[in-house]
Amino acid sequence: MEQAADTAIRSIAIVGGGTAGWMTAAALAHAIPRGCTITLIESDAIGTVGVGEATIPPIRVFNQTLGIDEAEFLRETKGSFKLGIEFVDWARTGQRYFHPFGTFGKPFDLLAVHQHWLAARAGGSRVPLDELSMAWGAARHGRFAPPVGDPRSVASTFDYAYHFDAGLYAAFLRRYAEARRVERIEGAVVDVALGGDNGHIASVTLADGRQVAADLFVDCSGFRGLLIEQALGTGYEDWTHWLPCDRAVAVPCATGGEGMTPYTRSTARAAGWQWRIPLQHRTGNGYVYCSRHLSDDEAAATLLANLDGPALGDPRFLRFTTGRRTKFWNRNVVAVGLASGFMEPLESTSIHLIQAAIAKLLAFFPTRDFDPAVVDEYNRVAITECERIRDFLILHYKLTQRADAPLWRDCAAMAIPDTLAMKIDHFHSTGRLIARDMDLFGPASWLAVHIGQGNDPRGGDPLLAYATGAQTSSGFVDRLAGAIDAMARSMPGHAAYLQRIGASQP
Ligand code: FAD
Repeated sequence: MEQAADTAIRSIAIVGGGTAGWMTAAALAHAIPRGCTITLIESDAIGTVGVGEATIPPIRVFNQTLGIDEAEFLRETKGSFKLGIEFVDWARTGQRYFHPFGTFGKPFDLLAVHQHWLAARAGGSRVPLDELSMAWGAARHGRFAPPVGDPRSVASTFDYAYHFDAGLYAAFLRRYAEARRVERIEGAVVDVALGGDNGHIASVTLADGRQVAADLFVDCSGFRGLLIEQALGTGYEDWTHWLPCDRAVAVPCATGGEGMTPYTRSTARAAGWQWRIPLQHRTGNGYVYCSRHLSDDEAAATLLANLDGPALGDPRFLRFTTGRRTKFWNRNVVAVGLASGFMEPLESTSIHLIQAAIAKLLAFFPTRDFDPAVVDEYNRVAITECERIRDFLILHYKLTQRADAPLWRDCAAMAIPDTLAMKIDHFHSTGRLIARDMDLFGPASWLAVHIGQGNDPRGGDPLLAYATGAQTSSGFVDRLAGAIDAMARSMPGHAAYLQRIGASQP
């Protein structure tokens, strides 16, 4: 093979040391052990967003790829296990449902399990859909053990993620990255120099005058988008008309009430929703709200009135605009984390999008030529991924039946993307779930929200007419729910399991 000119990337500068910066640094240090310097610039004076504590199951793949031991990670980040999200008061006040990680049982014939559940319900069964989910079975009893490999067992039908302290996770990954040659520079970037004919970023200048040059820049500077927006003026697509919340107030509290439940809770409130994320040493809380309908003071008062235990600090306010950058990769800058956009934390997808961006950056790793075809494909995939998640989030707002507050009335009446309208209509007519390419959330997730929020199908799958009949469906549903409950009761308690694996102190 002819010797190609050396166009390899030899230096990478990551600007920002929040969850995005340190996840990127750790993953790049792991994937590129030599031949390229990796520098991370962060400013303690500016600080991080300091929230972001609930995740979805792919985070386990990220940690495993880096060779991180699960028990050590949970110990160091005061983490807990997460089996899904309980949604309270979203459809109507007084109603609840669970979005589980995993599936609702396993098909025993050609029909989806939930078609049997629908048939059984039409025949008089009162078993809630939640009770066909192993994740909810364990969650509601406060139990946890990892899924088993035997596909015949109901204990193979769930998945899990984590809650963790975001600051401790960044510190954990910092130790990992610095042990693998990542150089950390403390200091605020005050200037950005563009170079050459191509307008690429050549270097950044710190407050003390130091300059850091690099071939590739990763913008992890948070909402401000220091490189991608302030320097390159990339542009932002605003999704506030679909995802109307634009503020959050957050405060941790002492563990109390139900304690360290193995799931997140999202409770709808008059102008948004409140999260509850239980960790080993405290519970994270926040009220995500729409500033058109609620003042900051009212939001803080509502949050403080709805805590499990005493607040452990003053409430912190955050402002954001839901949406995404028009390009995630522009010239020699890839935006990762909040610098790339934010879709609000309803389904804990932001940290996942960091992980997905890193995986794509490695899959499309450039040379110094920055081939436009590579950059375009990265952006195409990233935009599609985001839009699929966006639709799933809008689903929660659109399907509300609450008429008790202006936010919810507006959401029920709002126009939605065609891609989502098609899914809602299709489910409503036959109970069948339409999957689209690059959907992050699979059929079980969509099913949980459709049913949980009252998008009841008018009819069933036409194949039901040839199948077993309501009698069999009902028997199947009863047996599955019984097997799940028995399995859940045989699992250890959540706190006991963390102790057993050495992930927490007794
Ligand atoms: P930041 O944490 O803001 O970090 C930015 C970094 O850039 C900092 O180190 C800062 O010092 C540095 N910086 C900025 N400007 C400069 C400069 N001029 N010079 C040098 N350094 C600079 N995600 C989830 O997955 N699950 C959740 O439950 C969740 N909940 C959330 C709740 C809320 C209310 C919000 C707002 C977000 C939530 N997220 C959640 C998102 C999550 O917090 C972020 O995705 C994650 O923390 C990554 O943030 P970041 O690293 O991009 O930005």
